[in-house]
Parts: sequence; C-alpha cells; structure tokens
Amino acid sequence: MQTLFISDLHLSANTPHIAQNYLTLLANEGIKSQAIYILGDFFEVWLGDDGITPQHEPILGALRQLSEAGIPLYFMHGNRDFLIGHRFSEMTGCQLLQDPTIIDLYGTQTLLMHGDLLCTDDIDYMAFRRQVRDPDWQQQFLALEMTKRVEMAKQARDASQSSAKNKSLEIMDVNQQTVEKFLTDAQLTQLIHGHTHRPAIHEFELNGETAKRIVLGDWGAEPSYLIVTPDKMTLLDQRI
Ligand code: MN
Repeated sequence: MQTLFISDLHLSANTPHIAQNYLTLLANEGIKSQAIYILGDFFEVWLGDDGITPQHEPILGALRQLSEAGIPLYFMHGNRDFLIGHRFSEMTGCQLLQDPTIIDLYGTQTLLMHGDLLCTDDIDYMAFRRQVRDPDWQQQFLALEMTKRVEMAKQARDASQSSAKNKSLEIMDVNQQTVEKFLTDAQLTQLIHGHTHRPAIHEFELNGETAKRIVLGDWGAEPSYLIVTPDKMTLLDQRI
C-alpha cells in the first residue's frame, strides 16, 4: 500500500532521459500505488492543450494506462504548466486539483501545494502569478495563435531569468511565515510541495505541535519522488 508523489520533472523535448526515468518510475512504482499525485511543473512549458502533439503520446499514454488500470491520478498546476486543461485531463485520466488541496494520507490530513504560493518574498513573481492565473487573461492568451504564445512565453522566461539573477536564494525559497499561515488556516501539520528544487523533509514546531514540510525534488540526471505508506514516508532523491 503506497502513494506516489512527483513534481518538477520539467519534461521537454530536450530531456528524453527524464521522460525515460519517468516511464520507468511509473512502470516500477506507479503501478504499485494506490494513488499518484503530480504536483506541478510536470512540463517545462505548456501553452495550451491544443499544443499536444504525437510526441507527447508516450508521456500521456503512460498515465492513461495507469488510470485505466484503476489507479487514481491527480494533477496540480505548477508555474510552468498552469495552462494544462481538460483535454489533458481527458487524455490521461488525471483529475485536476486546486492549489492548495487537502487530502487524507493514511489518516493524516495533508496539505498539497505546488509551492510557488509559498514564495511570498518574491513580490514580482506573485504579481505575475495573479495575472496569469486570471481566467480572463488565460482565455485571451489561449485564443492567440500558438506561434504568438510561444513568443510571449519566451519573453516572459527571459525576463524572469534575468530578474532571478538579481534575487537572493532566500527570496526564491518559501517564506516560513507563509508556510505556517497556510498550515494554521487549514488546521493541519503536514504539507507536501515542490517548486523550490530543494528536496528535504523539514520538521518544525507549530502551535505546540510538530509540523512536517516535505519538499519534492526536481528531476535532473536522476528521478526524485516521494513514497508514502501507512507507516513511513520516503523521499527518494540522490541529493539527500
Ligand atoms: Mn515551479
């Protein structure tokens, strides 16, 4: 009995080894799981479900096989693939989750997030996020020709990369007070998220209890994933 969590694969045509590791993970661990959660930034970039091409089929098909085998699949948007929509959902069997979402994880109520909402020290990013998560903005963006969307995404990426150079590492990480606020508001002591590419299991005291924040890792040369069973939590990442 296990539940599998992954995030931040940043799949793209340039990273076939990540796609291969992902297919291997689903074949080895996914098939044994009671549920699979993908917590965002599954793709490096996603500019609308109308951009799905036959090249995506191995990635999407592997999910579809698991959902057809009866394994529930859940997908939460990241900051790079927030335009994943209903067509993706239908093609894979993934149910889209709101950010944040609360799940019952073997008796422990657990808050799931992508993680970007926790990085409140990055004021510019939070403003950008509000803009691009606005349904009207998304509708207008998705109505543009794909070539125009590609061009706009490239501009946004270049701008964010050049501004990231001037930001301290602390700004790009979660804000601890924001973490505590999300948990306190939800009356929970367990949080799982990705986004920061700093895989770790943090324990801290919150309102007199021990709280846990599990950070999923990004995928580079090696896969990174979390397996939770009724007895334990294992974060499998070469860096820790
Ligand atoms: Mn992210």
